[in-house]
Amino acid sequence: MQETYDVIVVGVGTMGAAACRVLAQRGCRVLGLEQFQIPHRLGSHHGGSRMIRQAYFEHPDYVRLLQAVYPLWQELEVEAAEELFARVGAIYVGRPDCELVAGSRRAAEAYGIEHEVLGSSDVAARFPALRCPTDWVGLFEPGAGYLRAEACVSALSRVALRQGAKLCGETKVVDWRATDEEVVVTTERETFRAGRLIFCGGAWSSRLLGDLGLPLRVTRQVVHWVWPQAEAPFEAERLPCWAIDPQPHGQYAGIYYGFPLSWDPPGVKLGWHAPGMEVSPDHVPREVSAEEREWLPEFSRQFMPQLGGQVLGTGTCLYTYSSDGHFIIDRHPQHPNVCFAAGFSGHGFKFSPVMGQALADLSLDGQSTLPIDFLSLRRWRRLVDEPRLSG
Ligand SMILES: Cc1cc2nc3c(=O)[nH]c(=O)nc-3n(C[C@H](O)[C@H](O)[C@H](O)COP(=O)(O)OP(=O)(O)OC[C@H]3O[C@@H](n4cnc5c(N)ncnc54)[C@H](O)[C@@H]3O)c2cc1C
Repeated sequence: MQETYDVIVVGVGTMGAAACRVLAQRGCRVLGLEQFQIPHRLGSHHGGSRMIRQAYFEHPDYVRLLQAVYPLWQELEVEAAEELFARVGAIYVGRPDCELVAGSRRAAEAYGIEHEVLGSSDVAARFPALRCPTDWVGLFEPGAGYLRAEACVSALSRVALRQGAKLCGETKVVDWRATDEEVVVTTERETFRAGRLIFCGGAWSSRLLGDLGLPLRVTRQVVHWVWPQAEAPFEAERLPCWAIDPQPHGQYAGIYYGFPLSWDPPGVKLGWHAPGMEVSPDHVPREVSAEEREWLPEFSRQFMPQLGGQVLGTGTCLYTYSSDGHFIIDRHPQHPNVCFAAGFSGHGFKFSPVMGQALADLSLDGQSTLPIDFLSLRRWRRLVDEPRLSG
């Protein structure tokens, strides 16, 4: 006889693995279905590192979730017996009035987050790899750092498995339907039934939830690993994670960001947080062109003169932007037993353990005491009020 489950989670990437862990810890019979391997390099969670910080320029409403998530990362490190969070600090550099610096400062001051504002000469003295124009400042947040991304997804999955979750990799969901009594999920090989369903499909969310018409756009993002001309200034003792808002000086709109020198994979990882090329998640050009590397020498000359341009490797990864750049986490407006999290817009990783809790709350209790109202689907009224064909 086929096993039945309390909850099926579709997509065991960042958010799905986090949801499976919480549901299993709450004693649910949970089944996680993932189309690729767990973890894998075709979605949004690979590439080694993800920044974590609390002085959040994107929107101050995220800060309370970030305050909730820090102890959860610590808890996971204990459960998984593994260091996942490298607390190396982070510095945000730009003109004092740019969104990155001014927004981070606003959030830090409003929530009492430890920070220091440094003039441009202090930035260079304290962090010798970095240079910036004399009228710029740096906001240093010592409690920030980076998460070892794939290790985090592995750790979340491992803990979920140990707590009794069943996780199936290489299992693509091709269809689903929901009634008041149950949900039925069809994969390429089998059909599964459960009381509740959670979608964490990342870049594939619009396909899985086509009935909702979510305002999502998938883009391809490129990261580079560069070997610096001198190692010492780029080591974590001298260089924290960093983000630089170059506007209006460069021709590129967006934020440069990166990490201290690492060995696995080797190099200084850096990228450009910007709109990116719109793609279909199943047809992503993985080759990085010469034009896509063009900004590196100019970036290096302006902001990291000792970096040089010895590129060791490049990688591509997917962002799923919502139309306002904020996450969407909610219950399905037509099916109370279905909920979802999507549209993490290139900044979701750090939140995954708290998103796992919020999804478990929504799924099991229909609501959450976590401050997630500002991420609800209700901000696009028409998507909630005008149901399309469902399931
Ligand atoms: C280059 C880059 C840098 C980033 N930097 C940061 C950062 O510094 N800090 C930060 O906080 N965030 C950062 N992010 C964003 C963060 O990584 C993402 O927001 C987060 O990983 C999204 O998680 P997800 O669960 O939505 O997607 P994923 O982790 O991709 O998981 C979705 C999963 O669903 C599976 N799936 C989809 N459809 C199906 C199906 N039909 N059947 C079965 N499985 C399915 C997919 O295979 C995938 O495994 C970055 C992202 C990128 C690409």
